[in-house]
Amino acid sequence: MTNHSIRIGLEFERKYGITPPMRELSRLSYAHLKSYQCYAQYRLCAISRAAGILSSRKKSIKRGFPTRSPFVSKRMIVSCYGFDIQDGHLVIHLVSGASESIALNSHTLDVISNPTVRVCSFTLTEKSLCLCISKEVPTPNLAEVRGAIGIDRNLRNVTVGNEEVVTYYDVSKAAKVAENTRRIIASFKRGDRRVRQGLISKYGNRRRERIERILHLVSRDIVERAKAKRQIIVFEEIKGIRNLYRKGNRQGKSYRAQMNSWPFYEVKRQIEYKAAWEGVPTITLSRRETRGTTMDCPQCGERLQVPVRGDRGRYRQLWCAYCERWRDRDLIAVLNISRRGWLRSDHSSKEGGARGAMRGNPEHAGEPVILRVDASKPRDVFTRGRTLC
Ligand SMILES: [Zn+2]
Repeated sequence: MTNHSIRIGLEFERKYGITPPMRELSRLSYAHLKSYQCYAQYRLCAISRAAGILSSRKKSIKRGFPTRSPFVSKRMIVSCYGFDIQDGHLVIHLVSGASESIALNSHTLDVISNPTVRVCSFTLTEKSLCLCISKEVPTPNLAEVRGAIGIDRNLRNVTVGNEEVVTYYDVSKAAKVAENTRRIIASFKRGDRRVRQGLISKYGNRRRERIERILHLVSRDIVERAKAKRQIIVFEEIKGIRNLYRKGNRQGKSYRAQMNSWPFYEVKRQIEYKAAWEGVPTITLSRRETRGTTMDCPQCGERLQVPVRGDRGRYRQLWCAYCERWRDRDLIAVLNISRRGWLRSDHSSKEGGARGAMRGNPEHAGEPVILRVDASKPRDVFTRGRTLC
């Protein structure tokens, strides 16, 4: 049905020179799809999938990427009607009056047993079943928030915290996984393009899964702590950072490859959806608010200086000429981000205003406590094996 609908869409495109939008496509193809014996909702699903494929093709043509005539080879059903969940099974009703049932695993049953969780739709492919669920979460009340934590995403660590506690999550393992995969893929000598592509995608998937597993441990820990302490999570805006690592910027090839495989967006994505699930508010600073978070002293606001040749052993540290001290650049970023996020949230909450602006993040005298965590370790080691330094 999807392929049929795509064909109709392509014909329309040839005739009028524009890609049909979803509405037009459904008007054109709905009657044609009636020849397939199935429920109407599956027709809609096929049309919406075809519209998506056509629109991404249009985007590729616009960007100048080569495209082929699109078609779907994998079979798939998405539907938000005509199914039930009964005694641990997903029951899909068929047009003949019969039904098919698929057993759900214990984790899925555990999640959907929560009364606030609603199953909206299911996606069935030849190999997998996916349930789309939604949960009612009370809107986070900014007046109840007790503080803010900033998140600084780096290639080898994710630093989280505020003036009280700063935690360094070591994610250098993820950078190493990406680098190893790159080296393995570069070593493929096989001339057969199709086999090589298959191998590359296999290694690529493996890399993605391994990196995501490490980041999931970090994001879960961050959200759990923020929830327990009733804090807002503040991100900086680093969109467009990849432009710094383009060909012709006088950087080495491997350095560019390393920086371009830095999964900064994945960290944010995971934390944001987990925070939304738990009802923890998140803020992303604007580009303007982000400016200077890594270069301004969080204590006096002075512009910091990078180490020069004589400053040995000052790796990733910055010098404040006013306070006359060296500080870690990730720590500085986190302090600035958390403070700016706290000021913004306090302004936007009803009772905030000038009081909040003067106060900054809840006052804390002295240096923050610093924790270092190896993110590649399993979770129980994670909580027990924290080392203070
Ligand atoms: Zn200073």
